[in-house]
Amino acid sequence: MSHPIQLHPSADFIARTRAATADKDLRKGFRGAMDFLQAKRAAQFPDPVELETLRDLGAAIRRHSLACLPDLLEQLEGRLTANGIQVHWAETPDEANAIVLDIVRRRQAKSVIKGKSMVSEEVAMNHVLEAAGLEVLESDMGEYIVQLAGEAPSHIIMPAIHKSKQQIAALFAAKLPGVAYTEDVDELIRIGRDVLRRKFAAADIGLSGVNFAVAETGTLFLVENEGNGRMCTTVPKVHVAITGIEKVVAKLEHVAVLNTLLPRSATGQAVETYQNFISGPRKPDELDGPEEVHLILLDNGRTQAYADREFRATLQCIRCGACMNHCPVYARIGGHAYGTTYPGPIGAIISPHLLGIGATHALATASTLCGACAEVCPVRIPIPQLLIRLRNEAQADSAHASALRGAGESHSVLGSLIFRAWALLYAHPAFYRMATWLMSRLRVLAPARQGAWTQMRTPLIPARRRLRDLLREPRRDAARDSTVA
Ligand code: SF4
Repeated sequence: MSHPIQLHPSADFIARTRAATADKDLRKGFRGAMDFLQAKRAAQFPDPVELETLRDLGAAIRRHSLACLPDLLEQLEGRLTANGIQVHWAETPDEANAIVLDIVRRRQAKSVIKGKSMVSEEVAMNHVLEAAGLEVLESDMGEYIVQLAGEAPSHIIMPAIHKSKQQIAALFAAKLPGVAYTEDVDELIRIGRDVLRRKFAAADIGLSGVNFAVAETGTLFLVENEGNGRMCTTVPKVHVAITGIEKVVAKLEHVAVLNTLLPRSATGQAVETYQNFISGPRKPDELDGPEEVHLILLDNGRTQAYADREFRATLQCIRCGACMNHCPVYARIGGHAYGTTYPGPIGAIISPHLLGIGATHALATASTLCGACAEVCPVRIPIPQLLIRLRNEAQADSAHASALRGAGESHSVLGSLIFRAWALLYAHPAFYRMATWLMSRLRVLAPARQGAWTQMRTPLIPARRRLRDLLREPRRDAARDSTVA
């Protein structure tokens, strides 16, 4: 059975983080994998001038797409419909799942085979389809592994990156009848492929994600490395694609630029093994392809981000995962600790719009604000800036909270009073001097335990002498020099 949707990740975020950092094998695995991916990306961009020019272009294309989003979506729907693709709009995960269930019932389908789709993870589609009695099989090898293990993906590009070769070998031996334990990676891939190949032919519906939807031509663009995406979208009689409303671009030539950045930033590949351009169901003279193609365009909080000028940048994302690969926090805690479909820096900025800031505010604190994510983001999303804004939104009092869902839910009266007092002291030098004088005299009263601070650090104890007092003292070496003279 697949995992259900998770709605309140903040509640036990600290506990999950502690458990992850205490797991030495997990940390070692992630560190090694992230170092490998970082090196591969760096090798793909040897020329910094080319890289920055491409990033400028990629960011401009995504900003332009978002600036024209309502018009582009209308144009996309018109073109897709003209091409014979049925377009569905879903405001919530429930609506998206209801659309798929409706297609399933109408076609009397019994089985669904899936290509990689993070949006289907976002709406917990596997869970809903399985609850309705369907057999659902992930065909991407990483997704297949986490499905067998009953887990969620821990990375948006490499879902099973948290698993070692030994863990996968043990999983296959335990879950697949007649399969013996082997650590031979080629053999493990062959075993998985054998299972999946048989299922492709029998599946009633193929489900996939979409990397970009092109408005001018009504084309769905989908990339992958295993060929499973092409099988899912061509072998079953019905193909259902699902994506967020932000994935639209105006022109086919925009895909060329974005897809120059995507694989190089994601897996350090110059180009993906398979690029699929889907422009409609099978035509009478064609040998393969589905009889029906559907596209579900999901909102699920994206219009909340879109309505805010600053948060709109979140929707520029092309889901390459580079921010995760370079994040020092993600590399230590891994993807599951976040508790959301999208982990890492991109998860911290997108999840508050999907699930509400109240439920996800802790994720914005899982950052050192070092800026590595923004430095590698191929479409220049100012992630640290957005994290700071989210932290403020979560803590804002009702007078200052914005209209964002969940803003101000973590407001603390005590915290707010402390920061107001701090601001008052900083704004009035006489108060500040008096307060520091008092603190240096009463330093013995400083508590040895200071909440979360002293869990990892020594307590903060005011200095015996303030800096201003030290600066006023004649320097000892100057005094000694004058004695000698
Ligand atoms: S935020 Fe940028 S780096 Fe992170 S997944 Fe999205 S496009 Fe890639």
